Amino acid sequence: MSGVYEVIIVGTGPAGLTVALYAARANLKPLVFEGIQPGGQLTITTEVENYPGFPEGILGPELMNKFRAQAQRFGAICLNETVSKADFSVKPFKIMADGKTYLGETVIIATGASAKSLGLASEKKLMGYGVSSCAVCDGFFFKDKDLIVVGGGDSAMEESTFLTKFARKVSVVHRRDKLRASKIMQEKAFKNPKIDFIWNSEVVDIIGERQSGVKGVVLKNLVTGKTMEKPIQGVFLAIGHTPNSESFRGQIETDKLGYIMTKNGTTATNIPGVFACGDVVDHRYRQAVTAAGTGCMAALDCEKYLEGLH
Ligand code: NAP
Repeated sequence: MSGVYEVIIVGTGPAGLTVALYAARANLKPLVFEGIQPGGQLTITTEVENYPGFPEGILGPELMNKFRAQAQRFGAICLNETVSKADFSVKPFKIMADGKTYLGETVIIATGASAKSLGLASEKKLMGYGVSSCAVCDGFFFKDKDLIVVGGGDSAMEESTFLTKFARKVSVVHRRDKLRASKIMQEKAFKNPKIDFIWNSEVVDIIGERQSGVKGVVLKNLVTGKTMEKPIQGVFLAIGHTPNSESFRGQIETDKLGYIMTKNGTTATNIPGVFACGDVVDHRYRQAVTAAGTGCMAALDCEKYLEGLH
């Protein structure tokens, strides 16, 4: 079957590269599309201290380079191309990337999710240097600091509550005067003496430099129009995530938010031969180690499927 890959993997975060490692070691010579952010979300963080096996911590980009090198050592072929479309109505499946069409007996989608951002230049500059989208990953670095969490949903409540384990004070900045979060999560946050709320407000600028970190934010009250500067040392964004499933829209079953649906605790999708893993499936855990774990599951599910075919 020349020209047809046994396994095509889309995405190179912890999930995609773990699939690549396992599939390569199973001698399946996987073709891996790196996409617009090779290495995934960890490449925009600095220190990673919660990935097992690195007692001293490791920089996110370095960790992902190690993931890639390990997969390539066993024969994974990494292409620096971005998948724009797929056709799962034909066999072999078609994957379109950078104007070319690739054929695969199986496809594993590991395209992750992107944390929504406020769209500020200062936020981009300071991401990983005092601005974060993951309290579990970065909260530990903010012992006795004053922080803000932006958002009014369950994530904002969960993250602000979690951050009070480390921070001196956490202020939740929300653009309305009512939370979207579930009652129980709201109550927990309201009861926490370290959490206060800044209502009807948005962050219009983040003050700081990469070397010295975040020094404060400029908040705008959306009712009065007034702005004020608030000195804080960390900004946590909890304004939602977008699963990166748009290239597969119409081809595969997703939930209403765009997360790919998998079956019975496996990585199988509604299309036999197409598997999905990592954050494009998971809106609950969103950790590098859980993504890597489901990547391993996808490779094993895929191997079993191919055994049945051949
Ligand atoms: P979400 O429910 O979509 O909430 C996002 C929040 O961010 C909303 O309050 C929204 O404001 C605000 N927001 C959105 N864009 C913004 C912007 N550009 N500027 C300022 N604020 C902005 O997202 P989520 O909290 O991540 O939750 C996602 C899903 O996961 C939900 O179904 C949630 O229940 C679930 N979840 C569950 C748990 C749990 O049960 N333990 C924990 C986390 C998440 P508005 O309210 O004004 O729209």
